[in-house]
Amino acid sequence: MNTSLLKEIPGFFKKHYTLSLLTRIKTGGMAQFYAQVNTLKELKQTITFSKENDLPFYLLGNGSNVLINDAEFKGVTIRLGAGFKSFSFDYRKNKILAGAGVPLMRLGSKIAEHGHEGYSYMGVIPGTVGGAVTMNAGINDNAKIQNHFLSALILDPETLKEEEFPLEEMDFGYRKSGIKNSNKIIIESNFFLPEKIDQPTKKASKALKQLILLRCSKQPQNSRTFGSTFKNPKDSSHSAGWLLEKSGMKEVKSGGAMISRENANWIINLGNATSSDIKNLIETGQKRVFEEFGISLEREVIFLPEDLLGK
Ligand SMILES: Cc1cc2nc3c(=O)[nH]c(=O)nc-3n(C[C@H](O)[C@H](O)[C@H](O)COP(=O)(O)OP(=O)(O)OC[C@H]3O[C@@H](n4cnc5c(N)ncnc54)[C@H](O)[C@@H]3O)c2cc1C
Repeated sequence: MNTSLLKEIPGFFKKHYTLSLLTRIKTGGMAQFYAQVNTLKELKQTITFSKENDLPFYLLGNGSNVLINDAEFKGVTIRLGAGFKSFSFDYRKNKILAGAGVPLMRLGSKIAEHGHEGYSYMGVIPGTVGGAVTMNAGINDNAKIQNHFLSALILDPETLKEEEFPLEEMDFGYRKSGIKNSNKIIIESNFFLPEKIDQPTKKASKALKQLILLRCSKQPQNSRTFGSTFKNPKDSSHSAGWLLEKSGMKEVKSGGAMISRENANWIINLGNATSSDIKNLIETGQKRVFEEFGISLEREVIFLPEDLLGK
């Protein structure tokens, strides 16, 4: 598409932006346009621009759980900026209100500082509140977003109207919500907060530190990765990592990407990987596990833009 034919490109747009800069795994091609929106008005302006010019768009959180194509994305990649990054504790209503762009780890450690236990998982999962709600992020069944979620303010790009979605309407499941495959955008979210602790103890912060240490001992640190590649299968008592390891996938390489030696469900960018190197590893892992165990592994990681066409 000839960008000079497009009318009224908003001033905060960047053209031909390298998306690998925005993903944890550090792969991905260019976006024709990248918009970091700082207000709801800018978000709506971006969607209107996309629709008027017939360009697809999708929202990126912190890019922790996505694999972006190497080919240029002929559309608009959107991220929530400063205006979506604040949060507040409301002890009168027993809730926390957090903007969708708030880093989940920051929220988790603030909750721990306030003396609340049970939210430590938020302090160890990379990404934003919006990404975590979309993915129903968590570390086990007792520690996941769904358990503390009250409601979210969601923008419908079709009508450009915001609507409050309560828990019952979120359709949460294992690493998914009704938002995941829709084109709706989470603006902010309310989470349940128990009664204020009168004499905050150090217990909650200690629980978070222990969880961080446990993670450090089990998972590759400071790597370019998107964490778990596959969901644990429902029809097996074994984890995806175990199945991949037993299928001989540990340390298998494709171009600049490798299956981690610590955890076979993690893929690492050794420095110069492309998204197609990583897709090769994903397909090889699925094939080998199917041949060995007859189990079809389902991806947790989201392929952009194909998994979210229209988003
Ligand atoms: C080292 C590492 C460890 C991890 N450990 C865990 C773990 O223990 N548990 C776990 O559950 N996950 C884990 N993950 C995966 C990842 O952190 C989570 O899925 C996280 O919630 C993704 O948030 P994000 O902001 O990075 O979203 P992104 O990866 O940017 O996006 C994920 C999806 O959410 C959508 N999205 C993002 N924001 C919004 C919004 N505001 N409105 C609508 N849609 C939105 C995107 O379009 C995309 O479809 C890990 C990842 C890494 C790199």
